[in-house]
Amino acid sequence: MSDVRLPRDVRLVHAWPAPGSWAFIRKSDKVAGPTAWVGCPECGQAANLSDHAIDALGRVTPSLDCPTGDCTWHVHVTLDGWAQALVEKVGT
Ligand SMILES: [Zn+2]
Repeated sequence: MSDVRLPRDVRLVHAWPAPGSWAFIRKSDKVAGPTAWVGCPECGQAANLSDHAIDALGRVTPSLDCPTGDCTWHVHVTLDGWAQALVEKVGT
C-alpha cells in the first residue's frame, strides 16, 4: 500500500472535490466535522472521511479504501493543507 499526499481542492466548500484532491468540511447537516471529502483519483468517486481520524498534520487513519466495489484504490493518505483549513475562516 502506498503513501499519497492529496492537494486540497479550494474551489469548493461543502462540495465534492475533483478526483485526486480533497475538500474541507467544517460541518454539515449530514456529517460531523471537521472532516473532508476525498475524490478517488482512479474512479472519481467522492467519499467523506467522517469514519476516519485525521490528525493535526492531515494524516488519515485507517487507510482509505475506495467505496466503489470494483475500484482497487487503497492507500495511506495525507491531506495537504489540513492544518491551514482548520484555522481559516470558511464562508461568510
Ligand atoms: Zn475509486
